[in-house]
Amino acid sequence: MSAFADGSQPSTRGRLAAGVPGRGDGPGALLSLIRTMGGATRRDLMRATNLARATVDARLDMLASHGYVVHREVPRAKGRPPQMFEFNESGGYLLCIDMGSSHTRLGIADLGGRLVAHTSAELDLSMGPGVTLGKVGTLLRELVRAEGIDPRYVLGVGVGVPGPVELTGHMVRLPFDATALAPWTEMVISQEIRAFLPAIGVGDVPVEVDKDANNMALGEWRTSWPEVRDLVVLKVGMTLTCGIVANAETVRGTIGMAGDLEHIPDGTSDVMCRCGQRGCAEATASGRGIVRLLGPAAGSIHTSRELVALQNAGRQDVIQLMREAGRRLGVLIGTAISTLNPQLVVIGGNLAEANTLLLDEIRSVAMSRVHPLIASSTTIIGSKISDQAGLYGAAHLALRAVLDPASVDVGISNGRTLSVDRSPAHRRVLAR
Ligand SMILES: [Zn+2]
Repeated sequence: MSAFADGSQPSTRGRLAAGVPGRGDGPGALLSLIRTMGGATRRDLMRATNLARATVDARLDMLASHGYVVHREVPRAKGRPPQMFEFNESGGYLLCIDMGSSHTRLGIADLGGRLVAHTSAELDLSMGPGVTLGKVGTLLRELVRAEGIDPRYVLGVGVGVPGPVELTGHMVRLPFDATALAPWTEMVISQEIRAFLPAIGVGDVPVEVDKDANNMALGEWRTSWPEVRDLVVLKVGMTLTCGIVANAETVRGTIGMAGDLEHIPDGTSDVMCRCGQRGCAEATASGRGIVRLLGPAAGSIHTSRELVALQNAGRQDVIQLMREAGRRLGVLIGTAISTLNPQLVVIGGNLAEANTLLLDEIRSVAMSRVHPLIASSTTIIGSKISDQAGLYGAAHLALRAVLDPASVDVGISNGRTLSVDRSPAHRRVLAR
């Protein structure tokens, strides 16, 4: 098994340096191995790394004295009980930010990627980065204080934004979007966030930023389906978003726009999409698309949940449009399944939550359009964590940077020590 307990992979640097997981020349690589194994005895580690006992002991001492691992005795009938070393998932925190165009979710996670606390706020990104990020900073500071968390133990920040992010950290400037999000493309978001961390009491920690859909896929994968290596995640709400995990990696593509299924035009429709093309699923099969098709009959509907409530109340026009949306999305998902042969397709978002009609339509159309062998190896399923997938993904995005073996080694050499207290917040870890 090559994945960590949380499903992540040992870092390339660690593997290249070592050849064998855990054999890198620092304690960080050994920590990766302990996480991969879900806990290990000294003997397990010596066997897995071929390192001498003195070397393993020295690295374990460093990890333990800096709070990265905790140990307990394994009960045994006779003889001296061996010590089991485990990653101290309670030793620190991650700040999680999931920014939508009008709604932002914020959370705090532990180092196991579990949410300890979360909140949300209506924040319109068109207010510009200065105003929006100022409010995000204030809300995070309040959340950290309310949970009684010592900000010195915040080790990283994960961020999702509603658009592709270049490797430079800039959001991609889309030629057709000169309005709301344009100011966001002028700046490196991680730098802006790093600037307000001292006001929360957080030190100089990694700030990782990616497209919201990629975080959503990461969150679904690591939280609900860590054993799966290939999955597609489609979020169906007032807008559509899609993220892909292939061979246990989030797929970003050349400019971070992989999985942009919602903007594949359909030649049978000439409805103008906000992306500038005609006939995208985003324009016809999203909550907004359904509201537009309802016309005046939509009344004052603003949310996916309002649409689902009308559907459940038996409104035939809404039921009909929901079914048509399911068909359109089924065609898209069928194409994605044929392209990627994923084990799972996870459908999330408020429009799909507990919406059997929509899910059944997507499933039957998608499966009718793929090779029978592919159909028999792929499952289409509703999300278990739905609107929190982006927060979980942000936690795991940050975690990857924080627990990279090289980062751990640098942290230890700089004297970083994790918390070994069991704070009240940990006892309140939210149920997944
Ligand atoms: Zn489009």
